[in-house]
Amino acid sequence: MSTPPALPPENADPMVWALARQVWIDHMPDRDGFCVICKEWSPCGPRESAGIAIALGAQVSWDADAFGQQ
Ligand SMILES: [Zn+2]
Repeated sequence: MSTPPALPPENADPMVWALARQVWIDHMPDRDGFCVICKEWSPCGPRESAGIAIALGAQVSWDADAFGQQ
């Protein structure tokens, strides 16, 4: 996966998108394939989670709606 665009896709939560994108970038693998922060084999836990959020378009506002926090 290449670096996600800075601009969130339509319908994405901008804050969640920005956070997930930043975590994804921060936890990039080094030349040997290990996360530069966790020193775990990449993708590390945080990067994997961020990747999932990005892949879903960070559309967690659905959950907020369900709990009436809109
Ligand atoms: Zn990491």
